[in-house]
Amino acid sequence: MRVLGIEGTAWAASAAIHDTEADTTDIFTDAYAPESGGIHPREAAEHMRGAVPTQVATALDHARGTVSDGRPDDALPVDAVAFSRGPGLGPCLRIVATAARTVAQRLDVPLVGVNHMLAHLEIGRASAGFSSPVCLNASGANAHLLGYHGGRYRMLGETMDTGVGNAIDKFTRHLDWSHPGGPKVEAAAEDGEYVDLPYVVKGMDFSFSGIMSAAKQAVDDGVAVEDVCFSLQEHVFGMLTEVAERALSLTGSDELVLGGGVGQNARLREMLAEMCDQRGASFHAPEPRFLRDNAGMIAVLGARMAAAGDTVAVEESRVRPNWRPNDVPVTWRSGEDV
Ligand code: ATP
Repeated sequence: MRVLGIEGTAWAASAAIHDTEADTTDIFTDAYAPESGGIHPREAAEHMRGAVPTQVATALDHARGTVSDGRPDDALPVDAVAFSRGPGLGPCLRIVATAARTVAQRLDVPLVGVNHMLAHLEIGRASAGFSSPVCLNASGANAHLLGYHGGRYRMLGETMDTGVGNAIDKFTRHLDWSHPGGPKVEAAAEDGEYVDLPYVVKGMDFSFSGIMSAAKQAVDDGVAVEDVCFSLQEHVFGMLTEVAERALSLTGSDELVLGGGVGQNARLREMLAEMCDQRGASFHAPEPRFLRDNAGMIAVLGARMAAAGDTVAVEESRVRPNWRPNDVPVTWRSGEDV
């Protein structure tokens, strides 16, 4: 089966072709980069309006030129169209959904509505070959831990305010650093030393707003930016690691999977790997192209959903900007329940 995936929840206008027989995923992305500040929803939607059709056309041209499954020249380029249905910015999601519906109707193939957060996680679970991991989603707009039980992912712990990447980006906006801030904080942290910042974990949940205010204040008070960046990472990633460990302990799982754009940070991966090592658990983070927003993860999960018959009629395919991952019936893992 070949599936076209389309992603565009926030900044990445992305299309991909996943070929299940060849086990290949080719991703084509045009990123929105704000000229100043963070992501502006209207500007992001403008970007999607221009870039999504172009990326989709490129991906379909690529599929037409691919002969890995030996299909005849006049065969359909794809067997299904999967799109990010939510969560994400409403104006962006609507453009992605319109593109997906148009291609699915034009080719007369099934439409699959994928939960973006579960795509972040399933891509890691699949590449690790884990059966029942705890999953940490450390992305721009989200931060949560999920475990799988009884046909659904269950929310084990989550941020009480902003997503982890957005929190870091807010701090760097205060420094007038361009978006995205995460990689710049990671680079600056290399030369930093420890200073105290607030550390807020309440049971299985955590909060980032206090630490970000304190980090901004520290810079304004003259603390070296490198020291604040270093300490910000130590505190924020320490919080995520602590709750990930508690989630492993709570569920009895010995597998941890990381998803989301902040997962590209080497220090976060190091902390999680070390924690897993100390408790005899396995840790897996997918390759970076699958960590940040990308249509490859949408196409991969879309293929599994399509194979399970989990498709959606065009007239019922409205977008879901606030779609929580624990609200999604997991149709594609029947027979694997634990
Ligand atoms: P979501 O997937 O929740 O909708 P999103 O659309 O913002 O979030 P992602 O691609 O998952 O997108 O993550 C983007 C975030 O990752 C940005 O906030 C960015 O600063 C952060 N990020 C990217 N690279 C790094 C890094 N090396 N270290 C820390 N953060 C990073």
